Amino acid sequence: MELPFAEPYKIKVVEPLYRSSREEREKWIREAKYNLFNLKSEQVFIDLLTDSGTGAMSQYQWSEIMLGDESYAGSSSFFKLRDVIYELLDMPYFLPTHQGRAAENVLFSALIKENDVVPGNSHFDTTKGHIEYRRARAIDCTIDEACNTAEYHPFKGNIDLQKLEDVFKKYPAEKIPLCIITVTCNTSGGQPVSMENIREVSALCRKYGVMPVFDAARFAENAYFIKTREKGFENKSIREIVKEMFSYVDGATMSSKKDAIVNIGGFIVLRDKSLFEKASMFNIMYEGYLTYGGLAGRDLGALAQGLREGTEYDYLESRVEQVAYLGRKLQEYNVPIQVPTGGHAVFVDAKKFLPHVPKEEYQAQTLAVELYLEGGVRGVEIGTLLADRNPVTRENRYPRLELLRLAIPRRVYTDNHIEYIAAALANIWERREKITKGFRITHEAPIMRHFTVELERVER
Ligand SMILES: *Cc1c(COP(=O)(O)O)cnc(C)c1O
Repeated sequence: MELPFAEPYKIKVVEPLYRSSREEREKWIREAKYNLFNLKSEQVFIDLLTDSGTGAMSQYQWSEIMLGDESYAGSSSFFKLRDVIYELLDMPYFLPTHQGRAAENVLFSALIKENDVVPGNSHFDTTKGHIEYRRARAIDCTIDEACNTAEYHPFKGNIDLQKLEDVFKKYPAEKIPLCIITVTCNTSGGQPVSMENIREVSALCRKYGVMPVFDAARFAENAYFIKTREKGFENKSIREIVKEMFSYVDGATMSSKKDAIVNIGGFIVLRDKSLFEKASMFNIMYEGYLTYGGLAGRDLGALAQGLREGTEYDYLESRVEQVAYLGRKLQEYNVPIQVPTGGHAVFVDAKKFLPHVPKEEYQAQTLAVELYLEGGVRGVEIGTLLADRNPVTRENRYPRLELLRLAIPRRVYTDNHIEYIAAALANIWERREKITKGFRITHEAPIMRHFTVELERVER
């Protein structure tokens, strides 16, 4: 018999979880005004709010915490990280930052001016925030297939070359400081970008004199998808694929809280010396001196080790296949999800799940609350609450997709937890016809309302 897949690690330290009763959860979620961000983590059994900074570090990473060199300048932890980055990404210049959005802040300070446009594939929300804050505009050029949850496409994160070229033709090169390729594309569901697409986007950028840059938070998961889905890469190692990916760009911003499996950290890599010098000035102003960038020496060391582990095939297989396992279980129970599953999360299609809840009553949020009540599982709404209001008319913006995102932390939960999550959703699916009422907003902030919104149940 062929031996089944098993994780390439065992567990040394455990963190106990409290299994609450439905009565407790009813009370807690009411006190939280039906906003899952307001729950205390002890009130959550399985936490799928995010995969950012929530991974489990290895014994080697914890050793780096003890080995951390806290010198202000020139710490050995910095050089460990620099060497790993040179070796893995083959980029000549690097700056540490305290997380991904800080890397965006530093790089964009050096690059973006008012009225610029920045094309890319569904820019991440902080990325878009940092572009718009500079009175520039993010233009989404993701392929249309990304919006159809039921249609299979191996690389739903791809950029539509026609849409991109239209942007390049419409605006002069000096108005387009960079093009951002997000690998994997978070906003469309952790969907990968193919090597072919990266190569073609890069060539198009070069033709029009635009700098191609990665938003690289999940570059290793993207490399795993290239290896397992794209012809010609079956026999290449993850690290060979990563090197080739980076060979097509001139820089990258990185949130290390994702694929580098650390709880905090980020960095920038660049090919151009003068841009590096310009960015260095902003790094010193916003983040800290060039050899620590807002991080403790111990964080730099853990990050260096995390980059090594995060680019190992066995680890990536266990990681991505666990996410796929949740997707398969849900499909077995007929729960509608975005296919194929992405690298870090499964997205449940709440419009199809709860068609009897009016969209004005927040279908995805209703499903998120139901899942918490059913099993103490915390997911996150990617729907109307997140899409917020039109800034001019103040009307709700109804996005094309109403999704419940289940983000899986790295190396944290077992397959029993995965089965539990799937069973909880299956139970709700069984009684979905009876769920006809959603929520009404009682309090909301003028922007980014989803973090602090307060809700009450609609009574009819
Ligand atoms: C998380 C993330 C960021 C921002 O990084 P932080 O570390 O949370 O500041 C940027 N882009 C993508 C694609 C991300 O997933």
